[in-house]
Amino acid sequence: MNYRNRMEEIMSGKHRLSEEDRLKMDYKPDQIPPLPKGEEALRPSTKAGWETEAVIRAMISNLHNGRDWEKLYIYGGSGKVARDWKAFFETVDLLKTLEPNETLFLQSGVPYGKMQTTKWAPRCVITNSVIVPHWTPHFEEFVASGLSVYGQMTAGSFIFIGLQGIIQGTYETIVAAIKAAEKKTAYNGLDDFEKNLIVSAGLGLMSGAQPLAIKMCGKVGIIAEVNPHLIDRMYNTGRDQGAPYLDYKTESIEEAILIAKDAVEKGDAVSIGVLCNAVDLLHHLVEKSITPLVLTDQTSAHDLLNGYYPMGIGYDEADILRAESPEEYLERSKKTVVKHVSLMVELSKRGAETFDYGNNIRQQAYEMGIDDAFDYSGFVLEYVRPLFCEGKGPFRWMALSNDPEDIRKTDEYAKKLFFDDEQLVNWLELADKYIPFEGGLPARVFWAGFVGRAAFGMLMNKLVSEGILKAPVVIGRDHLDGGSVASPNRETEGMKDGSDAIGDYPVINLMGNALSGATWVSYHGGGGVGVGYSLHAGQVIVADGTRLSQERLFRVLTWDPMSAILRHATAGYAKAIDVGNEHKLVMPGRNNIKDFDYEELYNRIIKLVKERTGVDLFSPLQDLEISLK
Ligand code: NAD
Repeated sequence: MNYRNRMEEIMSGKHRLSEEDRLKMDYKPDQIPPLPKGEEALRPSTKAGWETEAVIRAMISNLHNGRDWEKLYIYGGSGKVARDWKAFFETVDLLKTLEPNETLFLQSGVPYGKMQTTKWAPRCVITNSVIVPHWTPHFEEFVASGLSVYGQMTAGSFIFIGLQGIIQGTYETIVAAIKAAEKKTAYNGLDDFEKNLIVSAGLGLMSGAQPLAIKMCGKVGIIAEVNPHLIDRMYNTGRDQGAPYLDYKTESIEEAILIAKDAVEKGDAVSIGVLCNAVDLLHHLVEKSITPLVLTDQTSAHDLLNGYYPMGIGYDEADILRAESPEEYLERSKKTVVKHVSLMVELSKRGAETFDYGNNIRQQAYEMGIDDAFDYSGFVLEYVRPLFCEGKGPFRWMALSNDPEDIRKTDEYAKKLFFDDEQLVNWLELADKYIPFEGGLPARVFWAGFVGRAAFGMLMNKLVSEGILKAPVVIGRDHLDGGSVASPNRETEGMKDGSDAIGDYPVINLMGNALSGATWVSYHGGGGVGVGYSLHAGQVIVADGTRLSQERLFRVLTWDPMSAILRHATAGYAKAIDVGNEHKLVMPGRNNIKDFDYEELYNRIIKLVKERTGVDLFSPLQDLEISLK
């Protein structure tokens, strides 16, 4: 059989699952698996102890924070935690009995096998949505054939912490966008209302962070959303704690604008959800000559069939159309995305600081013939890359005790350790005020870099050992990080050396983390922007309070941000080269340093933690096998 025939055969649907198999996969439990609480949460229930217990609780936590637990959907359109419920429970069962020196392998949401490795090796190795590049256009066919699943970034790698993760990133991004907007000459042409207006669309799992982040920046936000249930959800979230994500909801664009104008006049920071298609909102702004200070979009445009909603048709109607005639749905979606991006380009020309927020919407419009779709930039290129050059990225942790008090304690220590990082301390205070803990394990996120991540991870481990924290914590990050992703329309857009599409880097990051002692590692395709457009890796490590854990934390949390600095130094970014030189990193081709002094860094961290928090870390283990020498 020649290659062309094989592709045609796969496309013919010959391998699709039968109706009977589908029904089997449709099995779901009566209720969402619970997370242990109180005393029960303070002990692991697995043979290998906290490491495997952490993986199980993190999977369940994803369900509690996610979009639709019954379907195992977590976020970002169809990003799933497991392929189906059978696979979910099989994974849990295998983890329960795994030995402390064994590793479980998961292939796109199903258990694949296990084998004896070492105590240092990850307990779980995960891959999701990885397709041989030329075949990626057929990804959906592979999903329909029961061969793959869309893992997004943190859905299939079990470190989704709900809206907080994205609120923090969105807050940082909008702060940067506002600063950029205020520097532009077009800024002077905006009136008072426009200078305070931020416009976007999408109130889903990640996009739902936008209204709160906008308020935290002191501005007024209008967000379009087609799904009335999600508008209600964001309207109710945080309301009983006096900090609603959405202050107002309306079905009228005119009314949304009146509310926004009134708030600007009063100097209030508010958020307004408007039930409409993004295209209708933007069209109205163009018609009425209203140019927002900042404009973006976070609809699930990366998936025009299952995530994005076409104009001219209501939400329920659209869902019916998708089920009955996916071809027509897709056609309508394509027309909508063309209009959508054209309007964004127009508002950008009129002076709105416009950026792509990682949903691949520009690419979709470009493929439909919109040549100037890439006239406005992606958010990483504009605002995040300078942070990546320092190794900074979305560091996060979850309390396995399932007790918010543990997170509050870690916040206190973080403020001590990072007292001189004004933006970080400010974020922690805003988070405490605005961000309710969600259904999953209590969690916290901030952007930390080289030295900072390792120091804080090792500090939390010691807090576990001293009983200041009730149970271990899991420490991970988004796959959107400086060294862990290749995504030419997002994280690696416009790299200085043209290396946007080079996929070696996330693999190097992954292997370094696996070898350094991460508890679970993951490698995915397609997160954020859709399969075929990105490759990325993740790591999560348990701080269980042991000395061995401190050694592993030191290595993983040093390597992970170091790989971001190396990635950007290799690409020629002066800032990354400077940061690398400052820390005396070995950067072949960029400096002549031949040896990195791990002991010096270890001792520097011990001193830093002691001076700033009063906590004594363990001294480095001198055992031959793991000594730093
Ligand atoms: P989601 O599917 O949960 O939410 C998207 C929302 O957009 C849905 O509520 C949907 O009803 C709404 N929507 C779709 N089309 C619309 C339209 N034309 N007009 C108005 N509303 C519309 O997805 P999510 O988790 O919120 O993620 C949104 C997008 O952002 C995805 O493409 C995702 O890959 C991307 N993403 C980016 C980042 C980042 O760091 N920038 C992080 C996560 C996700």
